[in-house]
Parts: sequence; structure tokens; C-alpha cells
Amino acid sequence: MQAQNPAGIKLSGHTIIELCAAAALLLQPVPAASQPEHTPAIISVQPEKAEQGSVVRISVAGPETATSSCSWNGRPIPLFTDAAGRAFALVPIDMDHAPGPQHVSVNVSDVSGTTAVHEAAFEIIAKKFPEQHMTMDESKVSLSAKDLERHNRERALIDSMFAASQPRRLWSDAFIQPVQGRISTPFGVRRFINKQPRNPHSGIDIAAPEGTPVRASSAGIVCLTGEHFFAGKSVYIDHGHALFSMYFHLASINVQDGQSVARGDIIGRVGSTGRSTGPHLHWGVRMYDTPVDPLSLLALFE
Ligand SMILES: [Zn+2]
Repeated sequence: MQAQNPAGIKLSGHTIIELCAAAALLLQPVPAASQPEHTPAIISVQPEKAEQGSVVRISVAGPETATSSCSWNGRPIPLFTDAAGRAFALVPIDMDHAPGPQHVSVNVSDVSGTTAVHEAAFEIIAKKFPEQHMTMDESKVSLSAKDLERHNRERALIDSMFAASQPRRLWSDAFIQPVQGRISTPFGVRRFINKQPRNPHSGIDIAAPEGTPVRASSAGIVCLTGEHFFAGKSVYIDHGHALFSMYFHLASINVQDGQSVARGDIIGRVGSTGRSTGPHLHWGVRMYDTPVDPLSLLALFE
């Protein structure tokens, strides 16, 4: 007895039996477990009650999240993948956003291309940001024409840098605090000079001795370094998709524009350059054009 496989090669009887067994297996119905599943995606929100100026994490669990998108208030929010392969999004809440219930739309597509829209709900809680009142001689409050021109030039440079973020995720799986120390000024402090409101504090100040190493809070590309009027020696890191971290008042800068950094790399040393009253690190995080409390970002990865 002889048989041929599709390639026309003569096979021994022993092989034919094995092939027949394999063919019989193929003819059996495919077990249901190996068919594409249609388990609904599970959306979870952390925290469900979020303060103004904080970051909310939306996580999507389920087998059908190969392609999906996310938006809040009509604005697209990038989706990332965690170490376990689950999709998640980070939603920055502006410190002046009105409190109340919020809905994030998460579009989930399954392998067959069917899209389902899910809603993740959370609530914005009002936060009472501390106020700082200072009295200064008026002549010291307003900048000279020369300083104002310098500040405006620096502001334009920083704004154009913020608009040119890498369109891909550069950061690794978490963020770390760049320097350990006492938080001397928290995020969002509303400042008044001679009763006139100033920009609220857009980051946190961490008191640390001059020369303490400052570490990159996550992986990214150094997108701007310089010595600026208010911020002194500064490093800005682009983590991709308009997520930035920034480090001000440094004594020295260890990195160059365009350089890739890993989380924990030393990027500079604590100092008191620019408008500063003592050695500290001002650490800021800006997420999709919204300054957020860096500590709220850290809390999502603890
Ligand atoms: Zn500061």
C-alpha cells in the first residue's frame, strides 16, 4: 500500500498512520476555548475620586483591546500598554477644572473589527490649594524691559518645544521622584504679590542640599536645556505624546539637548539658580498641555 502526501513523496505505512491520526484531529470540531473570545472589556479607574491638578489612570482589561482609543471632553487621550499587555490611559485634570462627575469614552475593538464604546466614570473633587502672600517693593515686582524681553524669548522657546513632542511613548513602566527630600512648596500654591495673583505653582519644590544628584523621573529625550530667567539652569525631558518632566534651579546640567536618558540617570545637580531663595529642586510634570501634581503621577505606579 502506498500513499502520497501533497508534495508527491512516497510515505511508509507507519507515517500514513500518523498522518491519518493528525487528519482525524483536524476534522474534529475546534474546541470553543480556542475561538476568538467576546468577553467584554473591564474598565477600571484609579482613583475614582480625583482632586483637581491630579492624574487619573483608566485601565482596560480584556482580550479584545488590540486596537482602541480614548477621549475625554472631546479630546483624544493616548493609550499605552502596561507590562502585562493591558491598555491604560493617563488623564490629566487641570487645577481649575470644575468639580463634578466625568466620563471618559473608551472605544474597544475586538479581533473581528467590532467596536464597542465603554464609559469610564470618575469624579473631580475640589482641592483647596494653599495661598502664599508676599509683599514686595513695587520696583522689584515688575521686570526691566531687558529682563521681560529675555523672559518672553525663553517662554516662546519653551512653548515651541512643548508643541514638538515625539509622537511615540518614550517613557518606561513607571516614574520616580528625581530627588528625595522635604516638599517645601506643594503643587498648585496660589501666589499673590502685593495682593496681585501670580501664576500658581506648576510643580513641587523638593528641598535638598546643593549638589545632590537629580535623576530623570522616567525614560525620554532631553528636549531643552538652558539657563532661564526664572527657572535658572533647567532640563526638560520629553517622554513622548506631549508628556514632559522639568527640573529647575540646578547648580549644573549633566545632559545635552537631544540626548536619550533612562529612568534614574543623573541629569544635573541641585542648586539655587534663577529666582530661588535656597537650594531645592523644582520638579514639574506637564501632561497634554496640563500641569499636574507630580506626586499624583507617582502614586499611580506605587
Ligand atoms: Zn517651584
